Formats: sequence, C-alpha cells, structure tokens
Amino acid sequence: MANERQTIIHSSLGSVFSVFSEEELKKLTKEGKRRIAISGKINSPGIIEVPKGATLAEIITMAGGLLNDSGFKAAQLGMPFGGFITEDNLDQELDFKLFDKNTSQTIIILSDEDCIIQYAKFYIDYLLGKMQDGSLDNYLVAKKEIIRMWKLLDRISKGRANMRDIFFLRRLASTVKEKVNQKHNIMEEIIDKFYDEIKEHIEGHRCYTFQCNHLIKLSITKKCIGCGACKRVCPVDCIEGERKSRHYIDYTRCTHCGQCVAACPVNAITTGNNTFRFLRDLATPNKLVITQMAPAVRVAIGEAFGLEPGTNVENKISSALRQIGVDYVFDTTWAADLTIMEEAAELQERIEKYYSGDKSVRLPILTSCCPAWVKFIEQNYADMLDVPSSAKSPMQMFATVAKDIWAKEKGLERDQVTLVSIMPCIAKKYEASRAEFSRDLNYDVDYVITTSELMTLFKDSNIDLSQIEDSPIDSVLGDYTGGGIIFGRTGGVIEAATRTLYENMTGKKLEKVEFESLRGWDGLRVAEVKVNDLTLRIGIAYGLREAGKLLDKIRNKEEFFHAIEIMACPYGCVGGGGQPKAKKRLETLQQRAEGLNSIDRSLDLRVSKDNPKVRAIYDNHLDHPLSHKAHELLHTEYFVKVKRGKDENTDASKEE
Ligand code: SF4
Ligand code: SF4
Ligand code: SF4
Repeated sequence: MANERQTIIHSSLGSVFSVFSEEELKKLTKEGKRRIAISGKINSPGIIEVPKGATLAEIITMAGGLLNDSGFKAAQLGMPFGGFITEDNLDQELDFKLFDKNTSQTIIILSDEDCIIQYAKFYIDYLLGKMQDGSLDNYLVAKKEIIRMWKLLDRISKGRANMRDIFFLRRLASTVKEKVNQKHNIMEEIIDKFYDEIKEHIEGHRCYTFQCNHLIKLSITKKCIGCGACKRVCPVDCIEGERKSRHYIDYTRCTHCGQCVAACPVNAITTGNNTFRFLRDLATPNKLVITQMAPAVRVAIGEAFGLEPGTNVENKISSALRQIGVDYVFDTTWAADLTIMEEAAELQERIEKYYSGDKSVRLPILTSCCPAWVKFIEQNYADMLDVPSSAKSPMQMFATVAKDIWAKEKGLERDQVTLVSIMPCIAKKYEASRAEFSRDLNYDVDYVITTSELMTLFKDSNIDLSQIEDSPIDSVLGDYTGGGIIFGRTGGVIEAATRTLYENMTGKKLEKVEFESLRGWDGLRVAEVKVNDLTLRIGIAYGLREAGKLLDKIRNKEEFFHAIEIMACPYGCVGGGGQPKAKKRLETLQQRAEGLNSIDRSLDLRVSKDNPKVRAIYDNHLDHPLSHKAHELLHTEYFVKVKRGKDENTDASKEE
C-alpha cells in the first residue's frame, strides 16, 4: 500500500514529510544544490529553491511564514544529522554545509507552539528507526545511551521526572557525542536553549503547548470572549467567570465531559491536540502505528464532507488512515462486544449473589465505559465506588488486548506499538492517561485523537471522505456485532448487555433483539425487562446532572435498580465533546444514533456473545468471562479523587 501514501501530511498544527518519500526527497533536494524540502510549523511546506544569500528568516517567509502567526523556536537541518538553529542565527545566511552530505536537504521548522520535549522524543525515535533499518550503523555504538535519553524524555513528558534527570540527560548527550564523534549534539543544545521549558515540565508538571498528553488539564485560553455558554452547560458547575471576561475552570471538579468544548463558539477551550504527534509518529521510520475507532466516530465525521449525519463511513476512514500511513486500522467496536461479555457476566453474578442473600453484593451495577461519568462518581460518591462494573471501557480493553496479546503474537514488545485511539470524546484523553492503564510508563493507549481533530487532519491533507474509495477495517482482532455498535448512543450499552444477559440467563435465543423499552431520547428513563421470573429494573441517564439525581435516589434508598447506564453526553457518545459541532444539534445527534441502529439492523450477528473472534479470545487466552486472566487484563479499580494542592486544581490559564 506504500505507493498510495501521501508524500507530505498536513494538519493545522504542522506538516511532515512522510518517511515513505525519503528517496524521492533526496532526489528532489540534491538535483539542484540549493533546493530544500521544508516542513513543520509553516504555512506552505514543500520544495524551495533557495536564492544565494538567503537567511533562514527569509526562507521561512518564502514558505508562507510561520503557522498561526506563532513565534520561531528552532530549525532542524537534515534528519537526523545537521544543524539545530535557534533564534540567534535566524538572520544569518543559511549555511548549506550544515546539511550532512548523506541526507536530504530537509528543514523542520519548530515554532513556539512546539513542545521541545516532544520534538526531542521524535528526533530520537527517528534516529532509532534509522538505526533499526541499518542506515545509521555508526550510531549503534551509542544505542544504549540513546535509548536511555529517550526514556528520560518520556518520563519528563509524563510528569514522572525530577531535576536530576536533566543532569543525566546532559551526561548521556555528551557520551553520545564522544562515541559517535559528533561536531555537536542536539540534546546538549536543547538543554542549553530550552532549559526553562524542561524545568517547567518537571517541576510544574506543565507543558505550555498542551502536547504532552499526560500533563494536560482542560484550560480556557485567551480567545475566551466571556459568553458564558460553557458555564451554562457544565454539569458540575466548575466554570467561573463574569460576562464578557475570561472564564476559568476549577479542575478538581471537572469531569472532562467536554460539554463546555462543544458549547464554546470560539474554540477557546484547550484539551490537548495530539494530531501533530500522530503525523510525526507516522513519519518515523520503522514505527508501527495502529489505530482503533469508537462506534460513534463513523456516523459523524462524514458531516464535514457533505454527507448526511448518520452515514456510516467506517471503510472510508479506514482508507484515509492508511493513506496517511497508519499500519493497522482496527475497530474499538469489537472490544465493545468483549466489554459486554464481562459486564453481562458481572451483572448476572451480582444478581444471583444478591438474591441468594449475599450481603456483600450491591445493586445496581453501573456501566463504566464513560470516563467522565467514572471521574464524576470518584469525585462525588466515594461511598459508592463498588457499584460501577469493574470492566474496563471498550477503548481500554481493546488497548490491553492489542498490546498484551496481539503485539506479543506478532513478536513485538508493548513499546514497539504506538496505539492511537480515535474517539468522539474529550474524556477519553484523560482516561488514556490514568496510571492504572500503563505498565512501566508504557500506556495502553498512547494518545487520543477526537473525531473533530481527525476531520481537520483529513481536510488539511486534502483527503475528501466523500470521494475516497472504501477499504475495510483490519479484522485481525475481529468484526463486531450489533451489540457492539450501539454502544455509541444512549441506552446502547445496557441494551447490548441485556441481549447477552437474557440469552445467558434463559438459555434461549432472543427472537427480537431490540429492547424498545430501553430506547428513547429523554435524559432519564426507567424500563423493565423480564428475564425468567425476574423483572429487571433498569435506569438510563445521560448528562451528569441527571446522573447525580439518580445516584442520590439510590444512595437514599428511594429507588431500586438492578442496572443503570450513565453516559455524560447528550444522547450518549454521538453527542460527545470531540464530535463535529452541528447546527441543528439534537436532530443531528438523533440521526447519528439512528445511523448506529441501522448498522445494528444490517448485521447477521447482533448479540455480543455470538461474536466468534470474542469467543476465540476466551478460548485461546482468557478462559471465560470473569476468569482470573480476564480480571487481570480486562478489569480495573476506582479511586477516591481528592484535592492535591493548588497546582493540581487550577486552570493553568488563571496563572498566566
Ligand atoms: S469538561 Fe465538563 S465538567 Fe469539565 S469544565 Fe467542561 S463542562 Fe465542566
Ligand atoms: S470559554 Fe468559550 S464558551 Fe466559555 S465563556 Fe469563553 S468564549 Fe464563552
Ligand atoms: S458519553 Fe461518550 S463521548 Fe461523552 S464523555 Fe462519556 S464516553 Fe465520552
């Protein structure tokens, strides 16, 4: 498929030359001695003929100037050799001797929107990739030190480093310089020029560019016009601000639901956009990048390309992702079926124990696939943390299976796979960075890109989803059933669980899999479903205000339920904060939800337990739902969230 990949991939955050065009790049930039290929934070990346005497500042102007009117930060000449130019040399004539004779004449421009830690990690990833394919054998003598540098940078980017790590970084850089006989070493230059930024990551746990996803907190930027829309929709009233003045978020109470982001008319709320990191990962030699995509993404993204809300474009997304260089395109929906296997088994076990008089068991069971809802209960209902299902969300189940089973079967280590989740959700960015979903600082999900961010990336890369040919999603991990796909709309998770639970408890096949009583658009609904002699009482809520009311009633024993589904966003994930904004919002969300129902209706298999690949994973790896192995890989715990000091609580923007 390499020939279908794009030479240059863009996002509104920058551009990169795809690694697959390197030979072409070399040819292009060596044909004429003064030709360079320029990318990064500039408006018009491409090949430029540089006039004699031109300075880097003039070359940047020729390349359309810096993106978003940002400030110049640095320039990398040639990858991975070459000079590293900072502001001091911006007005000097570009010295072509700074390009190594064995590489293409490329310049990567960094602006003040670039995180220096993320850039340094990219640089080392690139270097390691080149060493792996044998094109940089001379660096092998220092491989150990280079890997150690990467690990230190990784710790810094995840807020787990201390100031002594800068000392170690400097020492390693000096060893590499000596061993490889370099004239200069980029890491030394980065430490010298950007010491304060590194220190800010380590001591302040802050990345001012919002690119280090483990350090991100939702933040309202200077773009805020004080309209108050965010304050009105926030379900936990954690946004403050006077009309016409900048607003602020009290982070200790924020659930990451993203409703403020969806409501903001001027996109003033920053959630951390990892699109550019995604492009860099795709351009890194020998890096294996895989994606997973949530159900709700496929029925919304097409709207930006003139398609009706609810149109299923999963095979077009798959095709577009391959075109920009993704190695495997997977589907989270398959893992939604896996989630149902665990949740339905857990519900059945709790019901059976409860009615046999086991006082340690509490009902209702609460669905747990919405991370905003999970954070809400951790922050506000510390006495009820044993009621949500302990099953991980489909995104996290997929990630565990991909890194701990699929990668192993391919002979890969966890850290050799970069897993990017495409989600309708802002809270998934937060969920992916929860420490319990990591091992030795390698997170199951490396980072999350929202539907809207992916839409912008496709548009910037001139990919039109309405025109692109279909290409099926990789089904190595299996296809999905109708039960998995309806996860994306309100009532879908509990309906999918009820389908499997009903068949498990009665031993009979369902004649009609649609449970109409569980469907609807009201924010709070109650339904009854008969299973054998038991009438299951099920609650369904979306929006955390409604969820709070429901939980209060349960806590006060005013209401009894066997199971409850709660999703933070209106109509469920179809209305997630990471979805494209819609003019006729509620109508559009209903169309998206109907799109998912229509996929469900079109499938032969509609009950999660019938998914053959899910059954195979139990047969081959997990034994049975709720087994010891399943618990180890597919379940999690919840923690009381307490205030941890001022720096953890405040919207970073308040201190600017
Ligand atoms: S993400 Fe949700 S909880 Fe947090 S500030 Fe925005 S609306 Fe409020
Ligand atoms: S952040 Fe956006 S929605 Fe909130 S007050 Fe500012 S402009 Fe309005
Ligand atoms: S309802 Fe869906 S999109 Fe919204 S916060 Fe929960 S998981 Fe994310």
